Amino acid sequence: MKAPPVAAATIAAFAAIVGKDHVFFAPEDQASYQDKFAIDDARHHPAGAVAPASVEEIQAIVRIASERGVALWPISRGKNLGYGGSAPLLAGSVVLDLSRMKKIDYDEANGTVLLEPGVGFYDLYDFLKAKGMKHWLSVPGNSWGSVVGNALDRGMGYTPYGEHATRICGIEAVMADGLVVRTGMGALDGAPTWQLYRFGFGPGWDQMFVQSNFGIVTKMGLWLMPAPESLMGMDLEFDRPDDLGPLIDAIAPLRREGLLQQSPTIGNWLRAAAVVTTRDQWTDRPGALPDDVIAAIRKKFNVGWWGVSLRLYGRETVNKAAYAILEQEMGKLKPLSMRPTTWRTGEPLEATGWTGTPLTMPMQNANWHGGRGGHIGFSPILPQSGAAAQAQFQRTYARYREYGMDYQASFAFGERHLINVNAVLINKDDADLMGRVDPFLKHLIADAKAQGYGEYRTHLDYMDAVAGTYDYNKGALGQLNRKVKDALDPRGVIAPGKSGIWPSNRAGGQG
Ligand code: ADP
Repeated sequence: MKAPPVAAATIAAFAAIVGKDHVFFAPEDQASYQDKFAIDDARHHPAGAVAPASVEEIQAIVRIASERGVALWPISRGKNLGYGGSAPLLAGSVVLDLSRMKKIDYDEANGTVLLEPGVGFYDLYDFLKAKGMKHWLSVPGNSWGSVVGNALDRGMGYTPYGEHATRICGIEAVMADGLVVRTGMGALDGAPTWQLYRFGFGPGWDQMFVQSNFGIVTKMGLWLMPAPESLMGMDLEFDRPDDLGPLIDAIAPLRREGLLQQSPTIGNWLRAAAVVTTRDQWTDRPGALPDDVIAAIRKKFNVGWWGVSLRLYGRETVNKAAYAILEQEMGKLKPLSMRPTTWRTGEPLEATGWTGTPLTMPMQNANWHGGRGGHIGFSPILPQSGAAAQAQFQRTYARYREYGMDYQASFAFGERHLINVNAVLINKDDADLMGRVDPFLKHLIADAKAQGYGEYRTHLDYMDAVAGTYDYNKGALGQLNRKVKDALDPRGVIAPGKSGIWPSNRAGGQG
């Protein structure tokens, strides 16, 4: 399925709203909004893009799109790499690029911001730095993107504020009928508590705009972490694949009781090699990397089969006490190495994800295979159980080897769950590899489903498949989503197909 072509008169109408410099429909514009990592470029080819600068301009664009049957795909900065980048799910959609909207309102006393979608992590970091860094950011591994866009796709960072969607407090959105709504306390005109209390009165709607296509978010409130007095922690390496389960069972209770407030990520041996070297520097053998190459990589980078970093934030006396417990609990697991790290306010701060400093380095893994490289995510949610994680690892690793894929994966803690984030590394110039990617990912989704596991986030190509795994009571949740979609957006203007939610007028999916 493809959206109908966008008429010249419609493009002219968009230009009349935003100015001719902010409509992008030339072939090179279309290419620049395409998903650089797409398995099949045609599938998500945009018709073009329009970039408004205000809520009023968005309302006017939505009106035109609704009258003329145009599908809009809102993006904030469109750096959602691995999940579709700036490309729409439905080919022929018009990308609604909100990257020009960059206003930041900062409530220093309460530690909150109200952001427009175009504010990038670097923008907010520079802004907070200029104000004396009284609050820290939580940044994702690719901090190139938008703070709002990342939270809307449930992106994750490394600090205690790392579950970005859970830090949202108050949203402003333009609905498909042009209505501008403010959620929570924002619905009370002039309330000074919009960014302080999440729920307002009656149903809380903030999360309705997350991973959905129910509205276009034009402002988002977010809580920021007060700059800590001290940061302490340790980087640990473990020798064997089987060390994963016990490590998870040791960290999980510390996370649940709140001794660890940040969400650690356990990653495998490829994480360093994939960002600073390319595969051909290690081997020219096809198929999944064999054990001798894995051993060589581990030796060169001095890493284990698994590694994890634990971090403590806050008062130094509290951190010191918590550190002693971490040391004791981790010591029982006999790690290969345990490297402590300490920072105190006033000392120079290392630029890492744990200090909330924007970074792009992890993205380098897209170059692992050379050529037109990239990665595609596969990220099922698991219970916080060592046995479950170990079994998931064994099943998935066997599939990597069956399909000749190099294993790059991590197990990221939430408060009660784990996310098994897999970055499937690709090279669009390697036809043989690309031919294996789609059946491999479909197999992984089916394997996870067989265990009762579903993904938390996925690439455009797999949104229908993943939504289909959420099948309780004949897919009742999908039915609810569609009813809401049809009620709010009967003409299917906003992001048709996002998260598997298709309006009835475009039913049939991407085909
Ligand atoms: P980032 O630049 O941080 O990676 P994106 O702009 O790519 O974030 O946004 C990620 C996804 O979230 C988009 O593909 C889109 O589905 C959704 N999204 C982003 N911004 C908005 C918005 N302002 N309103 C509604 N949905 C949005």
